[in-house]
Amino acid sequence: MQNKRRRFKDLVIPKKRFGQNFLIDNNVIENIINSAELDKNTLVIEIGPGLGAITRGLCEDGGFVLSYEIDYSILPYLKENTKEYDNIKIINQDILKSDILSDIENIDFKYDKIYVVANLPYYITTPIILKLLESKIDIKRYIFMIQLEVANRICGNPKTKDYNDLSILIGYKAKATKLFEVKNTSFFPAPKVSSAVIKLDTYEKLPYKATNEEIFYKIIKESFEKRRKTFYNNLNSYYDDETINNLYDEFKLNPNIRAEELSIQDFVNIANYLNENDRLVIYAHSKINLALEVMDLKDNYHMVNNLMIPITLYDKLSFEKSDEIILLDNNIKDNIIIKAAKLFIEHFKINGGVKIKLEKNIPIAAGLAGGSTDGAAVLKGLNKLYNVSASSDELKKLAEKLGSDVPFFIDEEVALCTNRGEKINPLNIKVKPIKLLLIKPISSLSTKEVYENYNYDGVSKKEKIDNIIDSLKNNDIDKLKQNIFNDLTVPALKLNKELKILYNNLKKEYDVYLSGSGPTLFIINPKDSSVKKIEEKYKDLFVYLCYTK
Ligand code: SAM
Repeated sequence: MQNKRRRFKDLVIPKKRFGQNFLIDNNVIENIINSAELDKNTLVIEIGPGLGAITRGLCEDGGFVLSYEIDYSILPYLKENTKEYDNIKIINQDILKSDILSDIENIDFKYDKIYVVANLPYYITTPIILKLLESKIDIKRYIFMIQLEVANRICGNPKTKDYNDLSILIGYKAKATKLFEVKNTSFFPAPKVSSAVIKLDTYEKLPYKATNEEIFYKIIKESFEKRRKTFYNNLNSYYDDETINNLYDEFKLNPNIRAEELSIQDFVNIANYLNENDRLVIYAHSKINLALEVMDLKDNYHMVNNLMIPITLYDKLSFEKSDEIILLDNNIKDNIIIKAAKLFIEHFKINGGVKIKLEKNIPIAAGLAGGSTDGAAVLKGLNKLYNVSASSDELKKLAEKLGSDVPFFIDEEVALCTNRGEKINPLNIKVKPIKLLLIKPISSLSTKEVYENYNYDGVSKKEKIDNIIDSLKNNDIDKLKQNIFNDLTVPALKLNKELKILYNNLKKEYDVYLSGSGPTLFIINPKDSSVKKIEEKYKDLFVYLCYTK
């Protein structure tokens, strides 16, 4: 070995910046080549052949060797050492910048499998392995000499400090085995760190398959780069709170979980969930009316003082860009969603369309503004999808064209809506969530008809409205209950017999109110026992427990 060292010194000065530690131990060289188990149909990719310590054996046993070496100055020695072989192509390039796939296409060799063999430059171990794993090249086996510490990490288990993004990415694609450790003295110059040879055999069929590998790689890298953060905060760099909260619910994840506590299967499941749910999603909330004062007609419209509060019952709309305007799987007749999309696209001269998926939870024609809120959600969704950045006031103006109730849902905050209901006066109150039980009879009511059957009594309800606002400010539920009113209750009960019976029955035991033009009724802050009782009694109706938002 003494002799060999002198010989190397005479030939080249190893360059630290290229991670040049040449193998001088013939046993190790032989072990590496043998563990690759090459045959004449194998295309071998070698990274960093150096002076050709391993390269000669690869040419001897393999079918063809494609060898990448960054250091131009050592090429004459490498060529000299491999001159008796014609099954080798040396490419003088940085492997990280090489287009390996097209290099493979350019060689004239028929292979049945591709293996990679390398005594890697340690300063770029991870980027090289990641580049190869993430590439589209179908590599069956990797034999790598790497730092011992990295080898342990790759072959490590979750919940240990050795486990990291590289372990997961490799574990996802391949079975990793640590073959043997190598002493420092087997190299010239001797590296400061210990080394090991590992074998990665890629799976024919992945045990867990990520439907979108880009997302899988992205979340793993982000999670381990910012290892000190919780996994929730790692995901928050790319996904909104609602998506992550749903994910945590779905997988019952502890909010404080860290990336190193998750297995490969966990990461795959999470990536697949995010791939499916990573459309732009808008939650369109419903509302109830705490005050609805209906006054005289002006220009064919009733003037109103309408105090609305959003509630936690919502429709979920997801948006994807498309050439046309498409609403997927729905049975809704009067389509405010399509109208809203057309309106937005025409108004902002958008070049394109939208594919909208609607998950409908809010009953229609129920006084819960299920249509209006969907219309507003479409305007908000398209605003985000096409990065239009229209202000909330601009969106409200557009929303007005879809209906008097629609502008309220642009901001979804408790407000006194006046004029036709389209003029929003936000109350700027942070209302503590109030428990609500919604009960909707089976039959519906037409808003138009309810208004037509309304007779204005000319009595101002200003005091009641002020009291409601006060009660919301002070979280005074009793005062709130005493003041809630809805001028449309009388015509709605008159028009719908089922509603009248239900209302009168409930009224015997509870304070019950009508939402909008009905027919949904609501009870404020019901006891748990009352909820149970009502749910049981009205099994066939829409009975829904929720909160103000
Ligand atoms: N295979 C040789 C051996 O076992 O003696 C040399 C191994 S040495 C640890 C790493 C080799 O990788 C060096 O020859 C170095 O010049 C080469 N290298 C370093 N960075 C490279 C890069 N980005 N692309 C290709 N080769 C690189």
